[in-house]
Amino acid sequence: MAGATVVDGKAIAAKIEEEVRVEVGRLREAGVAPRLDVAGFGGDAAFDSYANGRADACARVGIESERHVLPLDGGENAAIRALRALGADPAVDGVLLQMPLPEGFDSLRILAALDPGKDVEGVHPESLGLLYLGIPRFAPCTAAAVIRILEEHRVETAGRHAVIVGRSTVVGRALALLLLRKAPRGDATVTICHSRTRDLAAHTRRAEILVTATGDPQSIKGDMLAPGVVAIDVGTNAVPDASAKKGYRLVGDFDFATVVEVASLVTPVPGGVGPVTVATLLANTVKAARRRVQEAAR
Ligand code: NDP
Repeated sequence: MAGATVVDGKAIAAKIEEEVRVEVGRLREAGVAPRLDVAGFGGDAAFDSYANGRADACARVGIESERHVLPLDGGENAAIRALRALGADPAVDGVLLQMPLPEGFDSLRILAALDPGKDVEGVHPESLGLLYLGIPRFAPCTAAAVIRILEEHRVETAGRHAVIVGRSTVVGRALALLLLRKAPRGDATVTICHSRTRDLAAHTRRAEILVTATGDPQSIKGDMLAPGVVAIDVGTNAVPDASAKKGYRLVGDFDFATVVEVASLVTPVPGGVGPVTVATLLANTVKAARRRVQEAAR
């Protein structure tokens, strides 16, 4: 192979944002201002950076956004009350909860306090149940972003062998369920690998479509892949780099230099799945707003 086409995640994200902008314009004409609120514990620098990133993305497409610092000392119950209040607020269309939750918090109990109709990240048990049934309402954004990239590059999935490395609920497992649907960009034969998989390379070499979401930097090398594979890297890992301003740089799970030589299509890190994930979140927010308008009209 002479080298892969490198996916331009920023360009795909810009296209999605343009679609969202048009839809926000329509909703505003109908008197609805879509709004995505961000909640997180502690209100520290990490929360600020997370919330600022989401607020900037919202501002680009005309979505309103507010942030809510959940009281750490109030325990799970205070957080649950705050999330229920956002669920009941008619001005709010989508709610994001910063993860991971503080040590010792029961994440299932807290996520269940989100209003499933506002769960634009697709993390509420009801959202995951619908995904399991093959009728997703809001699929987890990263998994949905991978599907969108396949769509944009007209990658056929029906009957093909997709290998996913990573079995987390909202990435690897969610993507497997999307690829298994009897639907466009579904109907794949799916293998899921994880840290206990024996002879990982034997599985990855059989992939026609390979997606990795492990958080193990640069661990998937070109010699672990079949020539012509469609290679999607979800991993986003900070590795020390003294020459970088921040002292680190972001790399994926792929050893990009060798993967790009073997694959037919490859996503880079940064600039691949990441920006498409954020744009998908915005798309889910307008979808949530539209659903609420339609439900109110019934
Ligand atoms: P988790 O830690 O929840 O899951 C990682 C999965 O990878 C686990 O199933 C684990 O196996 C498996 N794994 C870890 N190391 C290996 C290995 N060496 N070989 C095979 N399997 C392995 O992580 P997430 O799913 O939340 O995230 C994964 C990566 O994706 C991270 O780098 C994260 O930053 C990135 N990410 C990127 C997003 C984006 O939008 N681009 C969004 C979300 C995440 P086991 O289950 O056995 O422990």
